[in-house]
Amino acid sequence: MAADNKAAGAGRTETWTIGKILKWTEQYFQKAGLDSPRLDAEVLLSHVLKKERIFLYVHFEQPMEAAELAAYRECIKKRVQRQPVAYITGHKEFMGLDFKVTEATLIPRPDTEILVEAVLQRLKPGCTDSLIADIGTGTGAICLSLLKYLPQLRAVTVDVSQAALAVAEENAAALGLSDRLELLQGDLLQPLRSGTQRFNAIVSNPPYIPRAEIAGLEEDVRSFEPMGALDGGEDGLDFYRRLLAEGAELLAPEGFLALEAGIHQAQQLKSMAAELPQWGKCEIIRDLAGIERVAVLWKV
Ligand code: SAM
Ligand code: GLN
Repeated sequence: MAADNKAAGAGRTETWTIGKILKWTEQYFQKAGLDSPRLDAEVLLSHVLKKERIFLYVHFEQPMEAAELAAYRECIKKRVQRQPVAYITGHKEFMGLDFKVTEATLIPRPDTEILVEAVLQRLKPGCTDSLIADIGTGTGAICLSLLKYLPQLRAVTVDVSQAALAVAEENAAALGLSDRLELLQGDLLQPLRSGTQRFNAIVSNPPYIPRAEIAGLEEDVRSFEPMGALDGGEDGLDFYRRLLAEGAELLAPEGFLALEAGIHQAQQLKSMAAELPQWGKCEIIRDLAGIERVAVLWKV
């Protein structure tokens, strides 16, 4: 790619238009082995141009300015080094909402929308004083989308990472939800135990990758996302053990614990809950790929 907006051809100079730079970048990303070369090229270019993706399609012939080309080139470099697109743009869409992300936060995954939907369906929309806890908040994706879609709901959220909490706090403010959210720093349920509040639901997408599998994760995840958001201990179940042991006493009557799970873990959660007298019915919900993704445990 030329530094200015002219590519030297055979005796002529060519202008880098939006359409042409996208085609070039798509091919470059493809050769670099990226999974979604076209999408990545488009998302990064719309970020540089500060436009929606649809803008690109109706401005294919628009020439790029030199400063835009230079900024785009920086993005391309980061992406071929496997930096995730969301860390480059600083944003990720989740449940139709825009979330700021930084390298202190896990990038919200589409799978986690299954967890949010499961909770939305089970909390009573008209209930005026429902209170939930979201454990391991990251960007705040889970609790903030629940607050957005249930206007009566209030939430308390916990993370061990102060840097992640700062991002969640910014996201709460940007979405106009700060007044219904309390953010607490600490270890899992510990910050909630001193209070007297009881929750209608406790929701969590805890770290759940078995430690031995971390080395085999895709480089985008392994090298860039926070290890403290991924490492679930030797068998991946460390956080679930604690949430199952300590969660029920913090739930209101008829409350439930809703957990995202990794592959094959939902049945393990069901078996673990069956051993504990405080848990009754267990529901398991599949994601769009058919994987058992969410376990909902009801307090007895
Ligand atoms: N809820 C976000 C989402 O679904 O996108 C982030 C989930 S991420 C898999 C797990 C989060 O749990 C991280 O933000 C991490 O910092 C936090 N975490 C890890 N250990 C924790 C602990 N002992 N207590 C509280 N939070 C913890
Ligand atoms: N779904 C994430 C991944 O596979 C893991 C998130 C988690 O540990 N909760 O990259």
